[in-house]
Amino acid sequence: MNPAIQYFKNIWDAIYTVSFGMIITLKYWVKEPPITIEYPDRLKKGPLILSGNSLEEIVSDRFRGYLTVDFSTCIGCLQCMITCPIDIIAIETEKRDDVRFITRFDINQSKCMYCGLCVEVCPTDAIVHSKRFEGACYDIKELCIRHVETAVPVAKRPSKGEAESA
Ligand code: SF4
Ligand code: SF4
Repeated sequence: MNPAIQYFKNIWDAIYTVSFGMIITLKYWVKEPPITIEYPDRLKKGPLILSGNSLEEIVSDRFRGYLTVDFSTCIGCLQCMITCPIDIIAIETEKRDDVRFITRFDINQSKCMYCGLCVEVCPTDAIVHSKRFEGACYDIKELCIRHVETAVPVAKRPSKGEAESA
């Protein structure tokens, strides 16, 4: 190709490719809603927040946040504690007048790696990940969460039929 033509072609290619990229950038800047949320300082400007949703509502349903335990279904089987690969769940049970009570159920969220194994193994779905993720605090001990303050009786084990239909 003639060097002069090649020279102008290179200039044209440079202008075309830069313009093409800028048009895409402008389209997202002007027309599309922001995909990311500048957290936490610009939350109020996010369109999702403005439409009345709380922060936890806009987190994906599959998000693995802090663990939470439903004691109306926890049968105190200790499976979650045994399964946790880094031993951060501590459960203690006590028998009083033929009734078993859970006297301690601590989860150290500061060490949790959110693998979800404890959730997978729970036979009654009592332990689940919540959407809570904010854990900023001055003392790391605050992240060792005590789920039981006063002893709670263990839930009745589901019958075989109930367990299979669940
Ligand atoms: S999510 Fe994983 S690391 Fe965290 S408590 Fe459960 S089993 Fe342990
Ligand atoms: S949370 Fe689930 S796995 Fe853990 S003790 Fe309760 S029933 Fe068992």
